[in-house]
Amino acid sequence: MSERNPLVVTEGLTKHFPLRGGHRVHAVDGVSLTIHEKEIVGLVGESGSGKSTYGKTLIGLHDKTAGTATYRGEALPAKYQPKDFQRWAKKMQMIFQDPYSSLNPRMTVGEIIGEGLKLHTDLGKAEIRERVGEWLKKVGLEPDHMSRYPHEFSGGQRQRIGIARALILEPEFVVCDEPISALDVSVQAQVINLLDELKASMGLTLLFIAHDLSMVRYVSDRMAVMYLGALVEIGTAGEVFFDPKHPYTEILIASNPEPDPEKERHRASTTIKGEIPSPVDVKPGCRFANRCPHVMDVCRRETPELKTLEGQSERLVACHLY
Ligand code: SF4
Repeated sequence: MSERNPLVVTEGLTKHFPLRGGHRVHAVDGVSLTIHEKEIVGLVGESGSGKSTYGKTLIGLHDKTAGTATYRGEALPAKYQPKDFQRWAKKMQMIFQDPYSSLNPRMTVGEIIGEGLKLHTDLGKAEIRERVGEWLKKVGLEPDHMSRYPHEFSGGQRQRIGIARALILEPEFVVCDEPISALDVSVQAQVINLLDELKASMGLTLLFIAHDLSMVRYVSDRMAVMYLGALVEIGTAGEVFFDPKHPYTEILIASNPEPDPEKERHRASTTIKGEIPSPVDVKPGCRFANRCPHVMDVCRRETPELKTLEGQSERLVACHLY
């Protein structure tokens, strides 16, 4: 386990998007999570569970509806102003899911990677160029790639450019928003290995968002499982993966494809029945009740709180079975 000093802490972090007629999309609903220095926390769940919105709200790309987020004990703004981005961009960055749409096609790779230095530091053109060249090498590309455009690169190379862009300011904390899900399986491991090397050499703390658990469990120290905007389980990656407690986590893991094609052929096909419910005007009660094989009357009446399992201080589950 990593060092235990809290770096980023959210308490009841909430992001609702208002709709016409007073309705609200409950994208993120009261998420409390502590991410420690140099730790990798995997945030997992199906598409539409609010994982990306949580990451974006945490680093200020969305205003917070309610709740707090702190960085080394200092409150992060509820609504970021330009001066806040100026300050916090050097500490917190994001690597985006889609390396195709997240890079401006009209900018050269050098301009894309160097933009953060231009905006947030006093470095001159020559120094920025030098740093960009160094970062291209660090992510496995060539310094002379800086004059090319994003379309001249493969998906894996573009994600390397996205990583260089996020890390050139040497942040401590990086939200990796499904950084490999748009890539071919053959290059996913290369990008994960690169992130792992950079994490070790720079002492980074990562929130690693993913819907595919097979990679995440290898890189994460702890995993947090999200369902319909709320956390349902937190534990070490091994505990959550090999001994899931929440019925949703259990099904999510059982339905995760086996990387080994031979084992996958023999795996009983397990899928989560029913659709993830609408996040509009979420009702009280357990959010997983309409899909849960263990549903009880109390589940439809009372919202289960995320609480520590007896005798396991690191293990939290939100379910009336515990
Ligand atoms: Fe299932 Fe009830 Fe637990 Fe929700 S609280 S996961 S419905 S058993």
